[in-house]
Amino acid sequence: MAILPLVIAPDPRLKKISEPVKKEDIDNDLRHFIGDLFDTMYENKGLGLAAVQVGVLKRILVMDMGKGTPRYEETYDANGEPDPICMINPEIVWASDEKFCFEEGCLSFPAQFSDVTRPKKVRVKYLDEFGDEQEKEFSEVSAVCVQHEMDHLNGIVFVDHISKIKKDMVMKKLEKFKKKGAF
Ligand SMILES: [Zn+2]
Repeated sequence: MAILPLVIAPDPRLKKISEPVKKEDIDNDLRHFIGDLFDTMYENKGLGLAAVQVGVLKRILVMDMGKGTPRYEETYDANGEPDPICMINPEIVWASDEKFCFEEGCLSFPAQFSDVTRPKKVRVKYLDEFGDEQEKEFSEVSAVCVQHEMDHLNGIVFVDHISKIKKDMVMKKLEKFKKKGAF
């Protein structure tokens, strides 16, 4: 297991569309890589991570909402059980009309946050790390997380959902943060 270096914005790789994973390629090597993704996500205190964020353009994401999120205190439980989920080739099969707004962050945009509005509930079909088909419904912060990570697989980042003025502000703040060498 290894902690992999993160791709930090702005980086052209974050705008690329990731390739589907063939079922026959879901093997021990891939599971080893998925383990590294989890390690990297936990090490950086993320709730989710897409493969492209470590520079691998495959449609794979990991997430763990087991403790909730410290930025959403009502649901945060520091002693919560881990709930690791790996999705390969995820697809949204249903999304609610009802929306949900949440202040999102991203490991590729260290220390940057912005409100994003998305469907409140989604149902997602995917292959797990053993190549078995799964379908699962997510709501509120979990739904935010899965939609955010799925965006990464399509070359979309959370600031693409906000106004240009706000996006420019985030990018400027990020540049300053990077210059300080704070990470
Ligand atoms: Zn992200």
